[in-house]
Amino acid sequence: MRYLSTRGHADRKQFCEILLEGLAPDGGLYLPESYPKLDAAALTHLRDVWQSQGYAALAFEVLSLYIDDIPRDDLQALCRKTYTQEVFGTKEIVPLKPLQAAGQAQPDLYLEALSNGPTLAFKDMAMQLLGNLFEYELARRGEELNILGATSGDTGSAAEYAMRGKKGVRVFMTSPHGRMSPFQQAQMFSLLDENIHNIAIDGVFDDCQDIVKAVSNDLAFKRRYKIGTVNSINWARLLAQVVYYFAGYFQATQNNDQKVSFTVPSGNFGNVCAGHVARMMGLPIDRLVVATNENDVLDEFFRTGIYRVRGTADTHETSSPSMDISKASNFERFVFDLLERDGAQTKAIFGEGLSREGFFDLSGDARFAKAAAVYGFDSGRSTHADRLQTIQQVFATYGVMIDTHTADGVKVAKEHLNAQVPMIVLETALPIKFASTIVEALGRQPDRPAQFEGIESLPKRVQVMKADVEQIKAFITQHCD
Ligand SMILES: *Cc1c(COP(=O)(O)O)cnc(C)c1O
Repeated sequence: MRYLSTRGHADRKQFCEILLEGLAPDGGLYLPESYPKLDAAALTHLRDVWQSQGYAALAFEVLSLYIDDIPRDDLQALCRKTYTQEVFGTKEIVPLKPLQAAGQAQPDLYLEALSNGPTLAFKDMAMQLLGNLFEYELARRGEELNILGATSGDTGSAAEYAMRGKKGVRVFMTSPHGRMSPFQQAQMFSLLDENIHNIAIDGVFDDCQDIVKAVSNDLAFKRRYKIGTVNSINWARLLAQVVYYFAGYFQATQNNDQKVSFTVPSGNFGNVCAGHVARMMGLPIDRLVVATNENDVLDEFFRTGIYRVRGTADTHETSSPSMDISKASNFERFVFDLLERDGAQTKAIFGEGLSREGFFDLSGDARFAKAAAVYGFDSGRSTHADRLQTIQQVFATYGVMIDTHTADGVKVAKEHLNAQVPMIVLETALPIKFASTIVEALGRQPDRPAQFEGIESLPKRVQVMKADVEQIKAFITQHCD
């Protein structure tokens, strides 16, 4: 398997070459040269593996279709080490929960529980694997890596929990001082591992991102201190997410003639892009429904064919904050496929075109019509009021408490139900992470998993700093020598 760039660069790379990289040299995103196609026998084999050996074995089977530069035994060991009941809370790792009212013959829909990992959000599903892959590959090369990131919550904590204690890796994670929820602060700052450095910046999230950009743009510093990132465009993260579409499908169906649909709470289009990859491989997915919050860049595209990046003033702070994006950083991958893999055109619309115009318009392009027909995409959006109402309704009807992002998914899923096809909504976080909105909706505190009792009072390790690039660089330097 070789990987190419969505912007047409001639290079072809192996999995481990792109594992530690972000963008391709031409600014594009990496994708496999082609998607492995599963015939009926292969799909039956995967169902057997899932049923008899479980998630880690399924992950190994799917990943080995895309990774041929890690010996099979090693890859299998990495999958086994990652997807354990100990880390993810259940034997199934991603159990399916039916939403079914008393007296009903069948569920209205299903939730696929992706948020029982260490940080209670679905990003653990990919990040935990990434931590093990990074440690493995760095040891093989005899190299080190310093991950520098900016977070407003979910991504940073998932990265820290994945990289804690890993050899060859240090994490320097900036976050806006005092602006994360007390629970999120406690989750991150209570990590006392020597290789994890929390840096609370006097400023907002954008200041943190600007610092990361400024440090990464200093190429000499970046090379000398082996600065890297773990952002959502990383192909290995996306690949890890493909696996749970298979696990969800096998749980909702009895045989491979049946279809299912998925609704995915979306921001950067990483999660649902993994669904697109699974569908391209031949997993019988009927619809892939993209659910956005008030930041509806993606819903607008699927309705109109126009992709319009939002400015800072147009980017709303919502009660599903992990979906508050101004542009969807993984979206280029799907558009490249939609444009029948025309790298030159992808480059034209996403490169200078987008920076100059702030939008592109495919509404007149015959290939845009295929987004729904050929690729199965639908979309919808949700607001704060919808979120509150959905959280109330799901709790009253099914006795299940859902978080704000999952509520966006359920709201939009209900607009796309088909009695013949089971609908699976991906549960992307647990309610405890967004307690204030739960209190607003239900008038009570969300349940707290036992292992998180009292984390707010644990000792904390965090360094508060001014939004000053030189000071951050000095801090990194000091902790690398
Ligand atoms: C990151 C995140 C999302 C959005 O996922 P994308 O892959 O960026 O589309 C949705 N919900 C939660 C809880 C998240 O942390």
